[in-house]
Amino acid sequence: MILNLYFENSFGLQGKILVVDVGYHGIWFVDRCHLGVLELRLSTWNRALLAKHVWDIARRRDSMWVHWIYSNNLGSSNFWMVRKNSNWSWVFHKLLDLQSHLRRFLFSQIGDGWDTNAWEDAWLPCGPLSAFISYRFVHSCGFSTLTTVRDLIINWNGNWPDDWCQRFDMLHNSPLPLLTSVRDKVLWGDNYTMCLDFTVGKAWASLEGNHPVIPWSKLVWFSGHIPKHAFCFWLACQRRLPTQDRLHWKDEPPDLECSFCGQCLDSHDHLFFQCSYAGVVWTSVLHMVDLPGMPSRWEQIVQVISDPNSLLKLLKQKLAVAATVYYICQERNRRLFSVTKRTTQDLIAVIRDSISIRADW
Ligand SMILES: [Zn+2]
Repeated sequence: MILNLYFENSFGLQGKILVVDVGYHGIWFVDRCHLGVLELRLSTWNRALLAKHVWDIARRRDSMWVHWIYSNNLGSSNFWMVRKNSNWSWVFHKLLDLQSHLRRFLFSQIGDGWDTNAWEDAWLPCGPLSAFISYRFVHSCGFSTLTTVRDLIINWNGNWPDDWCQRFDMLHNSPLPLLTSVRDKVLWGDNYTMCLDFTVGKAWASLEGNHPVIPWSKLVWFSGHIPKHAFCFWLACQRRLPTQDRLHWKDEPPDLECSFCGQCLDSHDHLFFQCSYAGVVWTSVLHMVDLPGMPSRWEQIVQVISDPNSLLKLLKQKLAVAATVYYICQERNRRLFSVTKRTTQDLIAVIRDSISIRADW
């Protein structure tokens, strides 16, 4: 619960996520709004949190730690220019490892121009000037590696010199900004025109990149869903239920068979709903919720629920599909581990009752 709350606060996902699993490589969430599943990889999470420290260094935050970094490690150098030194701490080495990952997301918004390096920081739409202007040329013009944006703008009275514009075409679309009395700001974004104040959530989104949208997510995590049914249905949509065909045996596999019909191994395709027992339940439930057009093969069912104009319009219909998958699984497991058996009529009644809790007929 603490973990859940922490991520909700950090990533602005209030009311949208459900922690599903915490594993070695990352944390799996169900994102109820956009995706079927969201894997919060720990490596991305770590980089997003470390990016906060890099941002503090880049904007020269007035804190004891940043002052210590500048007085002991950086001196008058720019963070993007320094290379590792064996005398520096392990943590600072980790921050330097992120230079190439984070540099393209941090942009300087010029105020008084004091805190921004003219060559290494990104303060123009064309990006850092050092990308296309050599330090040989910089020094030949009388500047140094430590030249600030303020020095540059005052030296040229606010306009690029003609010979620079002729030599570097990119400068035509990057006029020099006006100096003000406020401090320079360092912003985060995917490009110069779309950058905002830094948050760990934005950093995580930028570093993680885009996820494919799962087409069936809205019919699994719809408003009014029953959580345990939805979770089972979500696993089934990904064919991740522990059916017999997915088991791997180190030695000779035991004789396994479907606990309903005993005809073959159970699998997603067999349980939903090629098995004779499951097929009867499925047909009856579809009749009960007025869904005669639904197919009975799992692959086709997933196609139907992935269609934006899906047949499933009513809450009772959405609940019925998830509930049938859930109770077929439940009954299959009960038969594997106990001798009690429910008939198809018993199971249909249970499904009907579970739908009645949430939906009117
Ligand atoms: Zn069967």
